[in-house]
Amino acid sequence: YADIALYEAKAAGRNNWQFYAAEMNQRVIDRRLIETDLRNALRRSEFFLEFQPRFSVGAKVVSGAEALVRWQHPVRGRTMPDHFISVAEETGLVIALSDWVLEKACKAATEWPAELLISVNLSSVEFQRGDLIARVRRVLEVTGLDAGRLELEITETVMLRDSASALEIMIGLKRLGVRLSMDDFGTGYSSLSYLRTYPFDAIKIDRSFIADLQGETKSTAIAILESIIGLGRALAMTVTAEGIESESQLKDLASIRCDEAQGHYLGRPQSLQQFNALIAARHQHAAVAIAPGPNAA
Ligand code: C2E
Ligand code: MG
Ligand code: MG
Ligand code: MG
Repeated sequence: YADIALYEAKAAGRNNWQFYAAEMNQRVIDRRLIETDLRNALRRSEFFLEFQPRFSVGAKVVSGAEALVRWQHPVRGRTMPDHFISVAEETGLVIALSDWVLEKACKAATEWPAELLISVNLSSVEFQRGDLIARVRRVLEVTGLDAGRLELEITETVMLRDSASALEIMIGLKRLGVRLSMDDFGTGYSSLSYLRTYPFDAIKIDRSFIADLQGETKSTAIAILESIIGLGRALAMTVTAEGIESESQLKDLASIRCDEAQGHYLGRPQSLQQFNALIAARHQHAAVAIAPGPNAA
């Protein structure tokens, strides 16, 4: 798109052209800076993980957590993944970063009650190298985590890039015993056909569908969510709704029997200590109703 933007800017006149060129330059410089800093960030221990609780809607208990990476940049401060994952992917640094994330996340989960799962997001770049299965096997060995407690979240980009090798790798991952979930379900072009072909254990419904649970979009949203849940049930997949921000959204999901829910209303991404305290408290009263905790919005 950069070329098109420049072309259009040129066509629009010289002043605009200079403006766009300056903006492009700035963007290139930003990326370069991020790239340089990223190379040092792992060594300097600037990454950290947050854990967002996942809840079982029916049983009203914590069922696990999703690990989300953050970067404490010495100058920019706390930096979110949307700002650096794509640069990490382009430079290949995402592999080392992901090894770090996987190891930290699995290690943390070994301290939790055995029924809790840990989910980790994978990048499509990781599927383009031959060693993903070996890397996951190694992390399970090193941390001693039971493979069935690790869920790897995969987005459509993985299948889009090279569908045949993606299938082969996913089958290899399933042989290790890990769970696979389709993240951001419903946002891509072929979510449905991918469910048919690939060995997923779970569906994570994109939060845009949950955001539609109000006003004039509500009845359509309910219909769509109900059909995704029905599909998940028919295919024996766990269905998780992402981005629950209100009590009424949670009630709607309970009424259509969604399996699991995740979102700010139930629990924000939080430090490992906070998450450990949450599950310790909930474990003492196993039947504690889902209620917004101290980390809720
Ligand atoms: P994702 O996998 O879809 O993760 C869920 C995102 O939604 C997270 O954003 C989370 O903080 C946010 N979220 C959770 N509850 C709510 C809510 O109620 N409302 C709203 N508006 N947002 C909510 P985050 O942490 O900024 O991460 C963004 C994306 O970056 C993730 O999307 C994931 O694809 C990617 N990512 C995060 N950590 C990693 C990682 O370790 N490796 C890789 N490859 N990607 C990662
Ligand atoms: Mg995810
Ligand atoms: Mg994701
Ligand atoms: Mg998602």
